[in-house]
Amino acid sequence: MILSVTNVKGGVGKTTTAVNLAAAFAGSGLDVLLVDLDPQGSASFSLGVAQEDLSPSVAGVLLDGKPLAEVVRETDVEGLDLVTGSIGLAGADLALARKRDAAKLLGKALRGVRRRYDFVVIDCPPGMSVLTVNALAAAQAYLVPVVPHDLAAEALHRFFAGFENLGRLFGRRPQLLGILLTMVDHRTAVTEELVTKIRRQFGRQVFKTEIPINVRLAEAPGYGLTIFDYERWSTGGRAYSLLGAEVLRRGRGAGLI
Ligand code: ADP
Ligand code: MG
Repeated sequence: MILSVTNVKGGVGKTTTAVNLAAAFAGSGLDVLLVDLDPQGSASFSLGVAQEDLSPSVAGVLLDGKPLAEVVRETDVEGLDLVTGSIGLAGADLALARKRDAAKLLGKALRGVRRRYDFVVIDCPPGMSVLTVNALAAAQAYLVPVVPHDLAAEALHRFFAGFENLGRLFGRRPQLLGILLTMVDHRTAVTEELVTKIRRQFGRQVFKTEIPINVRLAEAPGYGLTIFDYERWSTGGRAYSLLGAEVLRRGRGAGLI
């Protein structure tokens, strides 16, 4: 299954979720590929890749037609391979503007390697660029992390409305696997209220598992470690482990795995 972690907003926990979810799958014995589609390379950084080592990256695949297999690298996490993102991706919108089937480049590139993996997780940059469109076109399903604070619920509606149009762009619409409430702080009344509101509004589309606000999750990337290698038993570690199981259950339920 190819799963894209997407939200037009930045700072909502996309990268944290993509990295730790991929690690949770790898930890349960699956072969996993994480694709970092962000020009900033945050997911790669989170797995210990230094800025100067980001190339060769997925930019070479999308912009120069390099085979994806040539840019796949192993990580220190058993079962987890990585395709890095790099600054070269920043010009993708312009570079691909006139290219036919520009939205399908990643999907095509993944065809060459997908048999090697049980799971491909794609970390999207913020915004609705050609990169995000590629991620969605390549994926069977997508997961949307949402921080329950002001406007979150309203923004979600706009986000899904935008998706309706996207489906037309590449013919097939990926399935919403679920909305993930993240950086949840139940000590504040506002959060409590919004969590209830979002759950009421979106019902079963919201994952049962919530990711709490947890400083360990913010610290781990600085050490190049996933939460499981940094502090597995932190509240964040336990939450991502539960999320991994829930995603697998949902994926099976939807016939995607
Ligand atoms: P995005 O990829 O959507 O921009 P990130 O995953 O990079 O979001 O998260 C934004 C910031 O919040 C990062 O500094 C990250 O370490 C931190 N963060 C993410 N999730 C949590 C969490 N559950 N608790 C505390 N900090 C978090
Ligand atoms: Mg990110």
